[in-house]
Amino acid sequence: MMPERRKFLLNSIKSLGLATAGGLGWAGFIEEGKSAPLILRPPGALREKEFLASCIKCGMCVEACPYDALALAKPGDHKPIGTPYFTPRTAPCRMCKDIPCIPACPTGALDKSLVSEKDEGGEMRLNINLAKMGLAVIDRETCIAYFGIQCDACYRTCPLIDKAITVDYTRNERTGKHAILAPVVHSSACTGCGLCEKACVTQKASIFVLPREIAMGESSLRYSKGWDKRDEERLKDVTEDVTTQTPRSSKKPEDYLNEEF
Ligand code: SF4
Ligand code: SF4
Repeated sequence: MMPERRKFLLNSIKSLGLATAGGLGWAGFIEEGKSAPLILRPPGALREKEFLASCIKCGMCVEACPYDALALAKPGDHKPIGTPYFTPRTAPCRMCKDIPCIPACPTGALDKSLVSEKDEGGEMRLNINLAKMGLAVIDRETCIAYFGIQCDACYRTCPLIDKAITVDYTRNERTGKHAILAPVVHSSACTGCGLCEKACVTQKASIFVLPREIAMGESSLRYSKGWDKRDEERLKDVTEDVTTQTPRSSKKPEDYLNEEF
């Protein structure tokens, strides 16, 4: 057995003993076996339910991570015990190009097809930029860049600078003569690595990573961006009638435009 894995098991048993002695008991232990809504998984992780069904808690991904970004959940972490996760504020994922945590996984709980794409020769290649570990979210009320103070810590540290985080320039209405350089996150490119959260200078990070299912809304089937082909694709297999009918629906837009003539 690998030393890290042995250490983890020993720690788990010790912690469990302490928890039981402290009155936490089995109920708390069992509770931690469930899916945790705020947990961040390594790159290529299956969706949470399938991940929990596939992960055998062997810790091989943790062993393979050269940056000690991953940890296995222990009793008291309030996460499914023995499963790998990372904590952006202290140990973000460094987005290794060869993603060593993925081939180390013996069960496919970390699935390389989720972070692979065809190269020019038609070969599948790993691309860590396709990872969707989470999504960075900005608290504009505490981010000092939104106060008008110059700070680009998150923007500069982002491995996908100008794609995952861009800067919006607006006039600082308070001073009347300065600009506000505010970071903006783009969900299409953000991998959720958490390097921005680690770099943030505020006491509690004003940019932080959440699981995507929690950070994002879901568009209604009734509304789509007619000017965006990818958004139109979303509705292509919809079988139900999603057109809103009102008494005015019988008219075409041109009828209204020509009404006055
Ligand atoms: S991509 Fe690299 S840093 Fe990120 S979890 Fe995998 S091994 Fe660790
Ligand atoms: S290597 Fe795979 S099976 Fe083992 S702990 Fe990591 S995700 Fe789970």
